[in-house]
Amino acid sequence: MYDDNNIFARILRGEIPCKKVYEDDHTLAFEDINPEAPVHTLVIPKGKYTSLKDFAAKASDGEIGALVRAVNKVAELKGVKDSGFRILSNAGADAHQTVEHLHIHVFGGRVLGPMLVKK
Ligand code: AMP
Repeated sequence: MYDDNNIFARILRGEIPCKKVYEDDHTLAFEDINPEAPVHTLVIPKGKYTSLKDFAAKASDGEIGALVRAVNKVAELKGVKDSGFRILSNAGADAHQTVEHLHIHVFGGRVLGPMLVKK
């Protein structure tokens, strides 16, 4: 169930400010408020999708294509397209998703190290 008052829904409605990086008809990209790398930008669809699971099931091909292209555009705009970058999307409890509106993290600007901390 999508919560219309989640923080990214409020950013999309302009109720909370963001540092915008990129926008098109279907997507918005903005700086993460608590960056974990020199480049840490979030790319979100404008539609109401809680996670990738929801997006894959319900979004149009146009929305899905726009999100993928926006991620690549953000890497270009942030200057990490050639140096390298990582994308990540947390979905659900085990992944520690904290905002229930699909978002793709784009990290870069330094050597990012291994993908996950080994336990
Ligand atoms: P996740 O843990 O994958 O759900 O990531 C949620 C991300 O949203 C975290 O990296 C937060 O720092 C980020 N975040 C939360 N509130 C805001 C906000 N108002 N503006 C930008 N980023 C935010």
